[in-house]
Amino acid sequence: MTARSSGPMFDKLALIGIGLIGGSIALDARKRGLANKIVAATRSAETAATANRLKLADHCGTDLAAACQDADLVIVCTPVGACGAAAQAIAPVLKPGCIVSDVGSVKQAVIADMAPHIPKGVHFVPAHPVAGTEYSGPEAAILDLFQDRWCILTPLPDGDPAAADRLEAFWKALGSEVNRLDPANHDRILAITSHLPHLIAYTIVGTADDLGGHLNSEVLKYAAGGFRDFTRIASSDPTMWRDVFLNNREAVLEVLQRFQEDLFYLQRAIRWGEGDKLFELFNRTREIRRALIHLHQA
Ligand code: NAP
Repeated sequence: MTARSSGPMFDKLALIGIGLIGGSIALDARKRGLANKIVAATRSAETAATANRLKLADHCGTDLAAACQDADLVIVCTPVGACGAAAQAIAPVLKPGCIVSDVGSVKQAVIADMAPHIPKGVHFVPAHPVAGTEYSGPEAAILDLFQDRWCILTPLPDGDPAAADRLEAFWKALGSEVNRLDPANHDRILAITSHLPHLIAYTIVGTADDLGGHLNSEVLKYAAGGFRDFTRIASSDPTMWRDVFLNNREAVLEVLQRFQEDLFYLQRAIRWGEGDKLFELFNRTREIRRALIHLHQA
């Protein structure tokens, strides 16, 4: 894919957290010349040193507030459970007119945690790029991660429309398709499309591991039969996913309840040899996969 030459949209971009998502934003923003200066800050000196060695940003340190001094766009790229504390730490230095955003996989909880710290005159526009891999940390950062992927903005009802438009233009310049959703709707949709599948993967791999002994090694040996795909998802970052489940509790528990009912339906169909029920469902789900391929989201 070729970069869009849209010119600098912001003088200074600050990234709080420089792992897979923060690092990839830095690489993409630099490649496309979207900011004159890209500065990052992270929690540990070790991660900062790795980010500096990889030259992800112009500089990465451990002082969150210092990184945001004079920034025009700040994107908080930490696990969702750390977003509130990050907003509190950077709040005193944010200049009027600055846009603050995030990339959290959960929106309602992040908004509740961050919004109270955002000073008057600073524009908070929450966002979630629906793109990623199972890898984490600065070494996982890759170019073009967001190309042709969705980025969902969940602007606040009383927020500045011009700030939301600028952030939308930024994500479009990174190659994303942008859509806007109400935060509660975002959390419900992501609970079924992302959070539940991760929970299922963690469960299956955990169950296989619990089988123990001889069976356990046979499972690994013959992993190609579907299990392998679950191990990939279940290797996703434990901190990030712990925070997702704790912060999207209600929506996840609701879809989990539905899922358990559907699982019992299948369990019963298998027990009573009701092949038509299995066949009907498997046909329906195959169509969903075809629709995804058609939408280029497979
Ligand atoms: P990651 O690779 O693990 O990077 C997280 C970054 O946040 C690291 O730089 C880490 O710093 C920093 N951090 C952690 N706790 C912190 C704290 N208390 N204060 C300051 N910095 C802290 O994670 P990621 O995959 O980029 O995910 C970041 C965010 O993007 C999460 O909110 C996640 O929900 C969202 N997201 C992830 C994906 C995905 O597929 N991974 C997709 C879309 C959105 P240290 O290493 O120094 O601790």
